[in-house]
Amino acid sequence: MTGRLADWISSARTVCTVCHTHPDGDALGSSAAVYHYLSSLGKDVVILLPDAEPPSISFVLDGTEYTSDPALAAAALERCDLLFCLDFNSFGRTEALEQACRACKARKVLIDHHADPSCGEFDLCFSRTDVSSASELLYEVLLQMPGIDGCAKRLPSGTVNALLTGMTTDTNNFANSVWPGTLAMASDLLGAGADRDGILLRLYSSGREERLRAMGDVLLNRLDVTPEGAAIVVLTKDILDGYALLDGETEGFVNIPLEIAQVRLSIFARQEDDSHFRVSLRSKAGTSARSLAMQAFHGGGHEQAAGGRILIPSDIQNPSQAREFVAAAAARFLQASSPVTDQK
Ligand code: 5GP
Ligand code: MN
Repeated sequence: MTGRLADWISSARTVCTVCHTHPDGDALGSSAAVYHYLSSLGKDVVILLPDAEPPSISFVLDGTEYTSDPALAAAALERCDLLFCLDFNSFGRTEALEQACRACKARKVLIDHHADPSCGEFDLCFSRTDVSSASELLYEVLLQMPGIDGCAKRLPSGTVNALLTGMTTDTNNFANSVWPGTLAMASDLLGAGADRDGILLRLYSSGREERLRAMGDVLLNRLDVTPEGAAIVVLTKDILDGYALLDGETEGFVNIPLEIAQVRLSIFARQEDDSHFRVSLRSKAGTSARSLAMQAFHGGGHEQAAGGRILIPSDIQNPSQAREFVAAAAARFLQASSPVTDQK
């Protein structure tokens, strides 16, 4: 498979990358990593984003050419001859770019780590779930490219740093989804000159005071812990407006309630607009965030980290009903699923 990809890269002149909507560090990191690698080969590359990059993670795109303008993206998709599809398992996850991606005539290569990829949508399908991130799987693919030959030091420094950024965010800085290959990758990238200190500074020590104070208020005043072991936070637009947060600044809030021993599922819902809430779900081993996302929130994702939506007016009539909707879904789900047993 990598031989075929190498041939396709060699014959391509114009390449696009595309990732999932609401791009996270892995989506942007894998995109930037492909950008720097292919640019170093003299290819004309553009990164396409289904929607705007969150300011907190946009540093990973520094030095790349990217757009989240749907018209520019559609034009780029019409003229490219190779399309890298990163960190999603079906074009449905590219939302605003879905139709243009499906209509794109270029060869399509998937590099992803979600379960159940729609491989029929792609010409080449690199998909594994036993990796931390799309960035890790991309790293393994790039190592097999001609001229790299298994040596991370031969990758461009932009690729090295972008890959480490993507893997670091998807593992929550090595807290989850860490496989033997993840640590091997980290070691090799450090050996290749990755600026881990700089990456950590930008990811975890460059936030705004407003974010930390909002987090404090959420934990103090907005968090419910149910007897079944669900932690629930629901933020309507009026609450969010009071915090005056920027795009992406509630990222990571959903992980914190899992620090509580009896919590096996954490649900964080925030109202995006009049039509829907975006829902993030995290769970401990033995409880499937993915199943609940699929059952109750029109979504999906990984076993322990998933997401979806609450739709207005089909799921709820108005935003004030969201909390009750989430609580009922969580209670139903946890009562039906067995509790965590292997929590030594
Ligand atoms: P997050 O909570 O960080 O937005 O998303 C966690 C995981 O769930 C990510 O792997 C993301 O790709 C996936 N995910 C988030 N929202 C959706 C969704 O609406 N549909 C599907 N299929 N996956 C989602
Ligand atoms: Mn990912």
